Amino acid sequence: MNSLILTCQSCNTKNRIPADKQHLSPKCGKCGKPIDAGTSAVPVELTDSEFQSFVAGSSLPVMVDFYSPTCGPCKAIAPFISSLTKEYLGKVIIAKLDTSTNPGTSMHYKIRGVPSLLFFKNGHVVDQIVGAPPESQLRQKLDAIK
Ligand SMILES: [Zn+2]
Repeated sequence: MNSLILTCQSCNTKNRIPADKQHLSPKCGKCGKPIDAGTSAVPVELTDSEFQSFVAGSSLPVMVDFYSPTCGPCKAIAPFISSLTKEYLGKVIIAKLDTSTNPGTSMHYKIRGVPSLLFFKNGHVVDQIVGAPPESQLRQKLDAIK
C-alpha cells in the first residue's frame, strides 16, 4: 500500500496518509484540521496480500487497473487514470495492481492481457474493460457504478 504526503493548510505540518484513507476526510495529526486530499489523490497501489480484503472491505465501488510497467498501452492511459482518481475521489476508489509482481491476483481474475480494468462492488466484479479504453468510455463506466 502506497501513501501520500499532504501538507496541512492551517499549520503547514506534513502528514503521511495511506492511499486507501485519502477519501475519508483525513485530519492533520498536529492541529486536527481537515486536510483536502483532492488535488493530491493518487491511485491506491494494491498487492496480492491485501487485494481481497481491500475490495471486499471497501464501502465505495473500486476500479482496479491491472497493468504491467513494461506495457505501452498501460502507460498511455495512466495520465487520465491519474486525473480521474482526483475527480472521482469519494465516489469511486481507483486502484492499480502491477501484474508482473502480483501474479496471484491476476490468475484469480483470469487476467489474460494488460491493461485490464475491473470494476468491483462489495468485493464482486460487476464490469470490466479489456485493453486500453478511451477516457470517455472509462468515465461512462465509472459514472455507472458510482
Ligand atoms: Zn495542521
